[in-house]
Amino acid sequence: MRKPLIVGNWKMNNTTAESVDLTEKLKRLIKDMAVVEVVVAPPFTSLDKVRDAIKGSNIKLGAQNLFWEDKGAYTGEVSPLMIRDLDCEYVIIGHSERREYFKESDEIINKKIKAALRNKLKAIVCVGESLKEREEDKTMQVIESQVKKGLQGLSLSEAKELIIAYEPVWAIGTGRNATPAQANEVHTYIRKLLSQIFNEGIASNIKILYGGSVKPSNSAELMSEKEIDGALVGGASLEADSFAEIVRSACMV
Ligand code: PEP
Repeated sequence: MRKPLIVGNWKMNNTTAESVDLTEKLKRLIKDMAVVEVVVAPPFTSLDKVRDAIKGSNIKLGAQNLFWEDKGAYTGEVSPLMIRDLDCEYVIIGHSERREYFKESDEIINKKIKAALRNKLKAIVCVGESLKEREEDKTMQVIESQVKKGLQGLSLSEAKELIIAYEPVWAIGTGRNATPAQANEVHTYIRKLLSQIFNEGIASNIKILYGGSVKPSNSAELMSEKEIDGALVGGASLEADSFAEIVRSACMV
């Protein structure tokens, strides 16, 4: 039985004061929803303050990115050690915005995943096809390539710390979401790939989240699909009320 997981990706939003304010509101709203695992991923600059604000609550901390080396001359980068030092348990890797704007390849993503796992961080690995790829009927091909290259060389014990987020690029921040059936079809395929790469037992325990314009109005329907174990939420995680509604919908499954 996979416990539902809802992750809020705040992206490049919120000053430290705004981050704390949002966290405090969220804490109050979801305090009775422990059946769901809840993670917030604030910008790096807010991690320290949010870490303090979530103490004693059922909210966990995640980072939005990391560098693949533990330390060194890499101006502007943030290492897995630094993220762990702030009590982060999770890190998002390979988000489509990083793939697109920062040209992160599957090879880079693979190095980042290994760095996260080596440092005992749970890696939330994002995969997803573009609109053009979906229209050309290449969705499964793209997913297969991203999953296989991204997860190359991981041991079975490392695989236990993985979470996959299926995020069709055409659905991120666009208000257009995949239908529950479309998402479930890709999730089923991802789980099949995970059984091939690792084994069935490991694959059946890896959570697969859906991301792409998840809102209170569509979350229950998405979450009711068998292979959808939760959500990676962007825009709707910036409002405590809407994020809490999404968490509530995951309590029902
Ligand atoms: C995301 O950033 O991972 C995301 C899914 O964003 P949104 O919910 O805004 O589409």
